[in-house]
Amino acid sequence: MRAIQLTAPGTLELVEVPTPTPGPGEVLLATAAVGACHSDLHILDAPAGSFPTPMTLGHEIAGRVAEVGSGVTGWSQGDAVAVYGIIGCGRCRACLRGLENQCRTVPVGGIGLSRDGGLADHVVVPADRLLPLGELDPVQGAPLTDAGLTPYHAIALSRDALRPGTSAVVIGVGGLGHMAVQILSVTTAATIIAVDTSEAALRLAKRMGAHHTVQAGPGAAEQIRQLTGPAPDGAEVVLDFVCVDASLDTARQVVSTGGQLTLVGLGGGTLPMTPTAGPPPVPLETSAVIPFWGTRAELAEVIALGKQGLLRAEVQTFPLTEAVQAYQALRDGEIHGRAVIVP
Ligand SMILES: [Zn+2]
Ligand SMILES: [Zn+2]
Repeated sequence: MRAIQLTAPGTLELVEVPTPTPGPGEVLLATAAVGACHSDLHILDAPAGSFPTPMTLGHEIAGRVAEVGSGVTGWSQGDAVAVYGIIGCGRCRACLRGLENQCRTVPVGGIGLSRDGGLADHVVVPADRLLPLGELDPVQGAPLTDAGLTPYHAIALSRDALRPGTSAVVIGVGGLGHMAVQILSVTTAATIIAVDTSEAALRLAKRMGAHHTVQAGPGAAEQIRQLTGPAPDGAEVVLDFVCVDASLDTARQVVSTGGQLTLVGLGGGTLPMTPTAGPPPVPLETSAVIPFWGTRAELAEVIALGKQGLLRAEVQTFPLTEAVQAYQALRDGEIHGRAVIVP
């Protein structure tokens, strides 16, 4: 079968590999759609030894059951499924509470992260990672598993703070950010302010339910402040899907006293967060969280939103033979919404 593999640090190739066989408790899927994620670029750019090689990328997977391994019940050939990509140990305190995204034993274990992913004609996954997609189009189902789940989990962490009358700022309206705008729109009554450098992304944010859009840049914080009020007022929740120095600087300037900074992007910027005698770098009582992916229960809820037509990814599709080019387009900022590879 064909597979898009990380063959060496920095090298992504379309290769021919044997079709895998499902072991006990596993299922072989015929992949139908696989989202291309910014974190795949970080995997690609990571130094030698950070990730196994060769490894097939792709952690945002929808497909159909092609073959079930021994001991697997409840799934039959042809079932349309989405894959919960995290594989926790199942035994630690976090996993026992269903928080596999906080597993204490396998910190970032998952399909396409620590074992072969879905960017191939077939992929083997543990049967307990599957959720039924039913009639939902797999091209829509795949992005729900990360581009949908990650912001859903991030927003769930702040749900209590997102009461009527509050404001939520979404910085970065890309693959995850455009889903975040919709999730805020359908699950909270907060006023949604979307921020991006791109005009097209801001138009997308409006279509997805943002009440206000603000061009990223030096004047962004002031414009947001005009919408939320001056300090110590501000946005109760700021979700940063970029996390470079400039976006973090905007985030800290617009968050309210007692607000929440939710840092999702892998941009590698620095947020100064320390009490000082003078004006503090972030308002008093502010908290920051670095969410990671989400739980299986949350993925079921995200898929329910997808089935209800309340959450829809804006997608650009590519065949498997053009996956390498799709990642380049993602790196160059040319993807509108989510890039989905359709093997
Ligand atoms: Zn991802
Ligand atoms: Zn665990």
